[in-house]
Amino acid sequence: MRRMWTILIAVGLGVSGSMVTSQSAAPQAGQQGRGQGAGRGGGVAIEPGQECPPGMTETRPGRCSAPEFPAPSIVDYRPRSTLVTAEHKVPKAKFPAVDVHGHSAGAFATAESLAAFIAKLDEINVGVFISADNMSGDRLAQAAELVRSSPYRDRVRFFTGIPLQGVGPGWAETAVARLEADVKAGARGVGEVGKGFGLTARKADGTRLAVDEPLLDPFWAACARLGIPAFIHTAEPQEFFSDLDMHNERWLELALFPDRRNYGPGKVTFEQLMTERNNLFRRNPKTTFIAAHFGWHANDLGRAAKLLDEFPNVYLELGAVLYDLGRQPRAAHDFFVKYQDRILFGKDSFQPDEYPYYWRVFETEDEYFDYYRDYHAFWKMYGMGLPDNVLRKVYYQNAMKIIPGMPRGRP
Ligand SMILES: [Zn+2]
Repeated sequence: MRRMWTILIAVGLGVSGSMVTSQSAAPQAGQQGRGQGAGRGGGVAIEPGQECPPGMTETRPGRCSAPEFPAPSIVDYRPRSTLVTAEHKVPKAKFPAVDVHGHSAGAFATAESLAAFIAKLDEINVGVFISADNMSGDRLAQAAELVRSSPYRDRVRFFTGIPLQGVGPGWAETAVARLEADVKAGARGVGEVGKGFGLTARKADGTRLAVDEPLLDPFWAACARLGIPAFIHTAEPQEFFSDLDMHNERWLELALFPDRRNYGPGKVTFEQLMTERNNLFRRNPKTTFIAAHFGWHANDLGRAAKLLDEFPNVYLELGAVLYDLGRQPRAAHDFFVKYQDRILFGKDSFQPDEYPYYWRVFETEDEYFDYYRDYHAFWKMYGMGLPDNVLRKVYYQNAMKIIPGMPRGRP
C-alpha cells in the first residue's frame, strides 16, 4: 500500500499542476495512459522521421498520444462503415469466363459429382473450368473421359503436371515421355506448377531445384513443340519474404499460417526467385508461360508491365491478387486496357461465393467495398469499370487463344 502511494506521488510530481487536476477528474486516464491522452496536452514528442512508441499514435505533428482505453487487436476491430454509396453486386460474370486456375479435383470422380460441379459453374457464369491440378496418367485419362462422355464436354479442360521429383541426368526423357502421353490423353497445358518449385523442391543430388534449372529445358521445349502453355506459380507475395514486424502489411496472414513465412536465414529470397523465373522465360522464348498470381507483381504494376514488355511469351493470371487490383482501380484499369491481350482470369481456390467479388471489381465502378478475406487485405476494394472488349479478352478470349482444344466460339 505504501509503495502504491509512492508511485502516485511520483506521477503527480512529474507533471504540471493542470495535469494533476485533470488526472483527479479522470482517474482512469491516469491508470491507462498516465496522463498522455490526446486531449490533455500530454503525450510524448518525436523528431521528424521517428516513430511513436508502441501503444501510441501521432495525434499532432511530432506528438504521440495513447488512447484512453485499451486498443482492440486487429483481429477484433471491425468498424462499421457509414458510407452510403452505390452498390452493384455481380453474382454472375457478364461474359462466360474461362477459369484457368481451377482446383477442384474431387469434381471429376463420378457423373453425379461432375453434374453438381457444373451447376455451381453455371451460378457464377464460369463457361470453362481448367483443372490445374497436375493430374497425370490413369487419373487424368479417367477424368478426361468422364467429361468427354458427359453432356458437359465443353465445360472442363485438364492440365497435366511436371514431375519434379528426382531431377537429375536422365530425368528429362522420362518426363517428356509422360507429358506426351498425357497430352494424348487430353491434357491441354502444364500446371499449376506449384510454389514448391523454387521454394522447397530438391534435385536428386539434394540441392534446391532452381526455377531456371537447365535440366528442365527439354521439358519446356516439349511444351512449345506440343503447343501447350505452362502455368507456373513462382514465389509468394513479396511481404511473405519480409520480417514479421509491425510494418508487414500481411502480418495477420503470416501469424495465422506458419507455412507462408518465407523470411529467415537460409531461405531463398523473393528477388532470387524472380531472377530465376525471368531466366526461365528468357531461355525458353518459344514456350508460352502463364505466370500465376500476376507473377506477384500486382502490387507493382510498373514491374508487371516490364515483365510483359520483356517477355512476349508470358501471360499473367490474376488469381488471388484481387486485393491489389481493387485497391488501385485507376492504375489497374489502365494496365488492363494496355495489356488486354496478356491477362487471363483465374480464381485459384474454388469457392463459388468468392467469384462475385472479382466480377464486381472488374465490371463496376463501386467504391469502398469489402474483400472476401480480411486476413489478406485490411483495405477496401474499388471497381475498375473495365470496358466490354477488355472483359471479353480477360474472361475468355485470351485463354481460347493460348490453350489448345478449347470449345469453339464463346465458351
Ligand atoms: Zn493454385
